Amino acid sequence: MRLRSLARRVRRRGAAPVVLLYHRVAEAASDPQLLCVTPEHFAEHVEVVAENYEPIRLGDLVAALRAGEPPSQAVAITFDDGYADNLGAAKPVLERNGVPATVFVASGWMGGDRMYWWDELEFLLLRPGRLPPVLELEIGSDILRRQLGEDEVYTREAAAARSGWTVLDRHDPGPRQHIYRELCALLRTLEERARERILDSFRSTGVRDDVPDGKPRPMTVDELRRLADGDLVDIGAHTITHPTLSKLGPDKQRAEIAGSKQQLERALDRPIASFAYPYGGATDFDKTTTLIVRDAGFDHACANVSTRLGPSTDAYRLPRVLVRDCGGRELAQTLADLEASAFV
Ligand SMILES: [Zn+2]
Repeated sequence: MRLRSLARRVRRRGAAPVVLLYHRVAEAASDPQLLCVTPEHFAEHVEVVAENYEPIRLGDLVAALRAGEPPSQAVAITFDDGYADNLGAAKPVLERNGVPATVFVASGWMGGDRMYWWDELEFLLLRPGRLPPVLELEIGSDILRRQLGEDEVYTREAAAARSGWTVLDRHDPGPRQHIYRELCALLRTLEERARERILDSFRSTGVRDDVPDGKPRPMTVDELRRLADGDLVDIGAHTITHPTLSKLGPDKQRAEIAGSKQQLERALDRPIASFAYPYGGATDFDKTTTLIVRDAGFDHACANVSTRLGPSTDAYRLPRVLVRDCGGRELAQTLADLEASAFV
């Protein structure tokens, strides 16, 4: 059918290898960061990769790149952060289709009772509940004051009406979305202690409705072991606390990078060879970071820059195509579009 003919067209020309980047496989009441791919769509994606491409382990793809012989149809699947749903929702689909994947885990979040900070911020602001009419947060020596206005009480109906909002939207439908956007940009740049202080002062301000559905959460150590069990899923490191590495000095970067490797190796009793930069954009890590990653003993590292791999790809800056929630047909089209600049 159309999917197959698309893939055939790509095959004829010899498609460049691609690394896909996922975060969660889940249905969510809201998803402002666009991190979720539904289980149904994820199954379609894996089928497209299994049937029309050459699924490959990330480590094997890097070895082939170094040898100058990258397989033309190669697609490697990766996940960032270490969400529990990677075990419950993603691994069975990968197993059913015999498709390998690498999961990058921010080791310090593992097994804790905290949500990742961006998820907690979403639950504090964008889920039903009540906040004070004027939100006051201590940020360093400053106080951030924001009027909640009519968003002080956020009913289930109001939250549901705006549940489709994401950070990619140009318009913020209310103060809660605006404050969420503002705080995301701020917390992303802070070290864990400063970030926690702000979240702590936030936690004590409001009253939130109970969340009946499962909250997104980092996996436990036991779940990590079950995820790594078998020969399809590799585990990679993603720092301890998920900082913006370029904002840290070399010593702190080293502690985050080498520390996450040690924690995961201790938990799994096996070497960890892959690393992914938190956030992964061009300004989220720098030359010092890539040197530290190499010195720490990693074989390769992934960024979050949406392009194909090519002959000059640096193994410590592997580009990845961020996958949003879409059907299999749309993913096939994305892969076909990338083919425009095939590996030669
Ligand atoms: Zn991440």
